[in-house]
Amino acid sequence: MYEPLTEQNAVALAIRLGLFQEDALLSCQEIGDGNLNLVFRIVNERTNDSIIIKQALPYAKVVGESWPLTLKRATIESQALRTFASYVPQYVPKVYYSDETLAITVMEDLSHLQIARRGLIEGKTFPKLSEHIGEFVAKTAFYTSDFGMNQQQKKKLVQQFTNPELCKITEDLVFTDPFFDHDTNSFETELRADVERLWQDDELKREAAKLKRLFLTKADVLLHGDLHTGSIFASDDDTKVIDPEFAFYGPIGFDLGQFFANLLLNALSRHESEREPLFTHIEKTWDVFVRTFTTCWQESNEPYARVSFVLDDIVSDALVEAIGFAGCEVIRRTIGLAHVADLDELPLERRLEAKRHALRLGRELIVQREHLPIHAIKRLVEQTAH
Ligand code: ADP
Ligand code: MG
Ligand code: MG
Ligand code: MG
Repeated sequence: MYEPLTEQNAVALAIRLGLFQEDALLSCQEIGDGNLNLVFRIVNERTNDSIIIKQALPYAKVVGESWPLTLKRATIESQALRTFASYVPQYVPKVYYSDETLAITVMEDLSHLQIARRGLIEGKTFPKLSEHIGEFVAKTAFYTSDFGMNQQQKKKLVQQFTNPELCKITEDLVFTDPFFDHDTNSFETELRADVERLWQDDELKREAAKLKRLFLTKADVLLHGDLHTGSIFASDDDTKVIDPEFAFYGPIGFDLGQFFANLLLNALSRHESEREPLFTHIEKTWDVFVRTFTTCWQESNEPYARVSFVLDDIVSDALVEAIGFAGCEVIRRTIGLAHVADLDELPLERRLEAKRHALRLGRELIVQREHLPIHAIKRLVEQTAH
């Protein structure tokens, strides 16, 4: 039977599962941020061995209210981590155990790394971040697509990763609510005129609706579904992607778009002269993605990949999608329900300036997405500064 774990029975569970030696001296702390899930860190004080137990809660705490939310997302998360591990084990935590009834995933403790968002806010560069995320996205996308696996097998995976409740959160909070006067939105009163202009922007709303349709209908590759910089642990040498509870089959550009958007939001939080490392990350992620995806394609034994001539189309569509999805993510993180610390931690005047910039940038990313080569993103940031 499901019940939320306490620190004490998380320890009891770890012992029962035989995850530590008999003589272990265990301590446990709940370290999650507590909106959707519990995250317990259990340490053997004798050896410093440690594990993480993540448990889904049957509701999400959103602005004080509780929304019921399926526990199945814990199973989606552990299955996605295992699927990703079969292609890129170096970029995900090891999963030691999972239990559908308890809605838990027991996994490798990554506390020696830092959440990338926090590090980027502190001014860290994480020199390998883009190379690793480019490879992560390319390989997980390719090998879960119809070009990297048997098409009948792929249909089974599409079914396995049907994730309607979590997708609905994205459909509403990313693609709909920010473009209308919806009560989930949240922004500084000083931004009201800018936001009302956005709500009246029919061209923008039509383009965002097209992107939403892609998200709803294009079952192309297995996506992480929530690949912002808070879902990435990093150091100078290592990168690990966590938290794929939103995983589902969707358009190839979605994960790249969310990642780009969160790099851009960090860039906007900085002085102009400090933004270059973020633009470099965006361009390098894209380059590595294209190179890796192309190599996977050329090496593929899948008959369909060998008789298909659409590699170039897939790559160019992926960029258009990524830029459009990035625009949606930039806007929703500015005025929607869930914000980013990169902007929210700025003092008011700088915050307002950065958020106005984000709204202009997000709009142009969406409406110009078909005409922007990757290096044009940097120029667009400059052009939308005022
Ligand atoms: P949520 O889905 O609630 O956002 P996350 O999986 O993002 O949960 O985890 C929330 C926080 O818990 C992370 O920001 C990180 O601080 C911590 N955490 C999660 N997984 C691990 C891990 N494998 N190792 C160390 N810390 C972790
Ligand atoms: Mg969280
Ligand atoms: Mg998270
Ligand atoms: Mg999550």
